[in-house]
Amino acid sequence: MEVILGLDQGTSSSRAVLVQLDGKLSHTAQGELPQMYPQPGWVEQDPEAIWTSQAAAVRALLSESGLDPSEIHCIGITNQRETTIVWERATGRLIANAIVWQDRRTAEYCRELAGQNANGASVETMVRDKTGLILDAYFSASKIRWILDHVPAAKAQAWAGQLAFGTVDSWLIWKLTGGRRHITDVTNASRTMLFNIHTLQWDDDLLEIFGVPRSMLPEVVDSSGDLAVTSELVPGIKITGIAGDQQAALFGQMCIRPGMAKNTYGTGCFLMLQTGSKPVFSKHKMLTTIAWRVMGETMYALEGSIFVAGAAIQWLRDGLGILKSAPEVEALAASVPDSGGVVFVPALTGLGAPYWDPHARGAMFGLTRGTTRAHIARAALEGIALEVADIVRAMESDAQESGAGMRVQELRVDGGASTNDLLMQMQADLLDIPIVRSQTAEATVLGACYLAGLAAGVWSDVEEVARQWHESRRFEPRLHADERDRKLAAWKQGIQRARGWDAGSE
Ligand code: ADP
Repeated sequence: MEVILGLDQGTSSSRAVLVQLDGKLSHTAQGELPQMYPQPGWVEQDPEAIWTSQAAAVRALLSESGLDPSEIHCIGITNQRETTIVWERATGRLIANAIVWQDRRTAEYCRELAGQNANGASVETMVRDKTGLILDAYFSASKIRWILDHVPAAKAQAWAGQLAFGTVDSWLIWKLTGGRRHITDVTNASRTMLFNIHTLQWDDDLLEIFGVPRSMLPEVVDSSGDLAVTSELVPGIKITGIAGDQQAALFGQMCIRPGMAKNTYGTGCFLMLQTGSKPVFSKHKMLTTIAWRVMGETMYALEGSIFVAGAAIQWLRDGLGILKSAPEVEALAASVPDSGGVVFVPALTGLGAPYWDPHARGAMFGLTRGTTRAHIARAALEGIALEVADIVRAMESDAQESGAGMRVQELRVDGGASTNDLLMQMQADLLDIPIVRSQTAEATVLGACYLAGLAAGVWSDVEEVARQWHESRRFEPRLHADERDRKLAAWKQGIQRARGWDAGSE
């Protein structure tokens, strides 16, 4: 029986899964992956450990499932995005640890760049126009620059054509092909800050600004196609799907038409709205990114992230000690009919989209003598749903202003906190649209496998793949408009006050 092998290389773990040709997930295996914090704000990983943990997950999967590698039809890869790896082309020797997407060491450099001009234009505007991204340390370009500036001899080696850069997809494929293929797909390329999302080419202006030689960069390929053939681990198998994790999830949730959106409720939230074959540029600090390039067609998306979502529930558990486990929050919050007037802005590490305010701090308003932990739990869940509602509304107005004129009809959801029925009902109420949970919680890796299967002839077109997706539960909006408006107004006030906070010493 043939299967698709899916690799899901995430920040905290490497996973491998088997997907049957009828689209069902049959086996999974997983290994943890450590992160290193050598200085405050720095986050690194050992690229060798990224590879060995991924390889170990594949071996475990094969031995647990009893599958013969010859039964693997094709491979799909999805990965943590933006994380930056540099190695020597000739030897494969790593010249530095991977700088993980969360790493902030280049924040000051990015701030300085944002104030500069290049070729008569503001760098900040140029970056935004060409890449769809906000000039920030998250993306790969400033991380590559840091490695070239700080690793002895790296700059000279790079300009001599001896070094290769890759995001995690490139690195895994380099390893899987014994150094024969140095590629990345358009979704991963679109997060490097060196890739022009209009021309789908590495951009000379951006390479110059960041001081990165073109010779370091991988060849950019579609998200689905005959992309590489393995020679290591499971030799002789075609790699036919690649996408960064959030894009893979958007595809896995089968948001295949403009106006379809997904949200992943994990530690943070990642929202993506598919906007069709032309990029929509945001006036509300959303990122514009490539959703995928499949069968010669490029789709774009708006992306908004929230840093603290499920993490606010962790804080109720670990910081306040009012819960023993995260899932308990649902029963506690449901034990009261409303939040008793409490508004909780979960900006514990600043605010992401649409505010991008790193100085904002978490806040609770409306406390009275009658406030109980149940009210606080309820307000925390509402806070998460309100953050998400802000993003969806901002994306909709971006899409409308750009002429794409779409309304989000429903939100497809996944991630650990999406199992909370009360939170999903609140989300439906606050957005006034249905919230739809899919039958599988594995949208990300399934997305990569769908991309792979599509190119390998398992499915003939995207519509056929879309038939693999099934809904498990739908939450319809039930809240009266007046009540919704009241909640949104209180939230707006809460946000304003959380942003006005001056931490003084920071
Ligand atoms: P990640 O992939 O970011 O590690 P997960 O998708 O595994 O996150 O989700 C874990 C997060 O979801 C944690 O922050 C946890 O507090 C939160 N969480 C888990 N279960 C629930 C629940 N029933 N209600 C609300 N939040 C939850």
